[in-house]
Amino acid sequence: MPRQYSLEKTRNIGIMAHIDAGKTTTTERILYYTGVNHKIGETHDGASTMDWMAQEQERGITITSAATTAAWKGHRINIIDTPGHVDFTVEVERSLRVLDGAVTVLDAKAGVEPQTETVWRQATTYGVPRIVFCNKMDATGADFLMSCRTIVDRLGAKSCPIQLPIGAESTFTGIVDIIERKAEIYTNDLGTEIQISEVPEDLKDLCEEYRGKLLEYLADYDEEFMMQVLEGEEPSIDEIKRVLRIAVCAGDFFPVLCGSAYKNKGVQMVLDAVVDYLPSPLDIPAIKGTLEDGTEVERHASDEEPFSALAFKIATDPFVGKLSYFRVYSGTAKSGSYILNSTKGKRERFGRIVQMHANSRKEIEEVYAGDIAAAVGLKVTTTGDSLCAEDHPVVLESMEFPEPVIELSLEPKTKADQDKMGLALAKLAEEDPTFKTYTDQETGQTIIAGVGELHLDIIVDRLRREFKVEANVGQPMVAYRETIREAADCEGKYIKQSGGRGQYGHVWIKFEPQEEGKGFEFVDATVGGSVPREYIKPTA
Ligand code: GDP
Repeated sequence: MPRQYSLEKTRNIGIMAHIDAGKTTTTERILYYTGVNHKIGETHDGASTMDWMAQEQERGITITSAATTAAWKGHRINIIDTPGHVDFTVEVERSLRVLDGAVTVLDAKAGVEPQTETVWRQATTYGVPRIVFCNKMDATGADFLMSCRTIVDRLGAKSCPIQLPIGAESTFTGIVDIIERKAEIYTNDLGTEIQISEVPEDLKDLCEEYRGKLLEYLADYDEEFMMQVLEGEEPSIDEIKRVLRIAVCAGDFFPVLCGSAYKNKGVQMVLDAVVDYLPSPLDIPAIKGTLEDGTEVERHASDEEPFSALAFKIATDPFVGKLSYFRVYSGTAKSGSYILNSTKGKRERFGRIVQMHANSRKEIEEVYAGDIAAAVGLKVTTTGDSLCAEDHPVVLESMEFPEPVIELSLEPKTKADQDKMGLALAKLAEEDPTFKTYTDQETGQTIIAGVGELHLDIIVDRLRREFKVEANVGQPMVAYRETIREAADCEGKYIKQSGGRGQYGHVWIKFEPQEEGKGFEFVDATVGGSVPREYIKPTA
């Protein structure tokens, strides 16, 4: 089967936001509108579109899926899930690794918030081009231009609105398109009936002011365009869009749109902007890889090159079992074919290949460069592994997983919590290669280890919310702190202390005398009888 969408018409995007800004609602609405479009072309007319959304939410397949495929105006848009909780964990890293562009959602009441800054920085590190959607324009306190200012002030980003809201809070009724100098007024609740009109009189000056600013910004990205602007010539709408696309794809300029996902206003225009301005797989740099003999190579977004892909998420699906989500960087592969997991040096078989759509799971016969899909039947593959053609082994530049550095103890509140906790922790550890959990053999405590405080906060929060496990969180007990004073006769020797860090077995501690009357100094400790592990201050 030939490819359905050209590479130029493929977008692999993420939606990133501070928690509660409306990422989920925006994603749902995107699926709704792309689904509506999809439905129009179908012959049968079953349940209403809103109904299937409700069913879908109940089954929770696509909304929680790691990647969802949607169609918009002849383009394929793959939406790659970025975690709702935004932090420095591998979740963000692995999604950023495989997406080509992103929509940053802001809450119009707050503008840029702390977690917006976090994701923004990460996206910058990975060079991910972005557009900004200023959501919740209907909410009390919504302030679009204030939000736009926070992008410049707090993120230090080159940014300019390309839309203006018509009204705000309860009077938010439509959106001005600054580039096209037109207004879209929403006349029904579902946002499916839109009246196109002139820019309202009271917004005309503001529209011209920002249009002028936009053109000034864009002049930096194209010489001919700059000459036009300098000579006071009016560039065509197509010209403006062409140069805006260059600016956005450069990862250097961030246009701002507005709307209310909840009130169904503005989401279709976000989709238009995704198609118009965010990069296709052809617009991003080639991925680097290493051949077996150590030679560095590049794999380009082309069906003609050998197959190469990166597994970015392993999930368990209630219907088909283990799903390995992957992004194809180059070449093609057929369902049922054998490929090489070059990271593990093992042959794997693509049993079936599926793509998640808003209203269905579609089995596909072949994947192409730039595609995002999930494979059923991969056995050894884990997050970050390279998959490639057997006769062209290559290990792609992957993600780095930081080692856990912080530990906390968990004490389940009830017996029921205890029963659930073990399974829940095992599941979380399977999903997240940077999260570790074990039982301290000496103290019997359940210890969780992660890459930072926020990481563990999130784990504890997920335990509570998703797994309904209540637990007291504390510092791990370390028995040697309590026993130092009794160790007088052990001076100068390594002695074994009970209650060390169970993960490593026993802790051996060395004591040396202090000045008279000052007790003993804890000189060093070595775990498992080998490497000195830590030093602490004198006890007295
Ligand atoms: P997420 O945490 O970013 O995924 O945010 P959600 O999509 O779950 O939204 C958080 C809360 O904000 C929910 O109560 C939503 O109903 C609400 N919300 C989302 N979008 C809008 C909007 O456009 N306007 C208003 N007023 N509320 C919204």
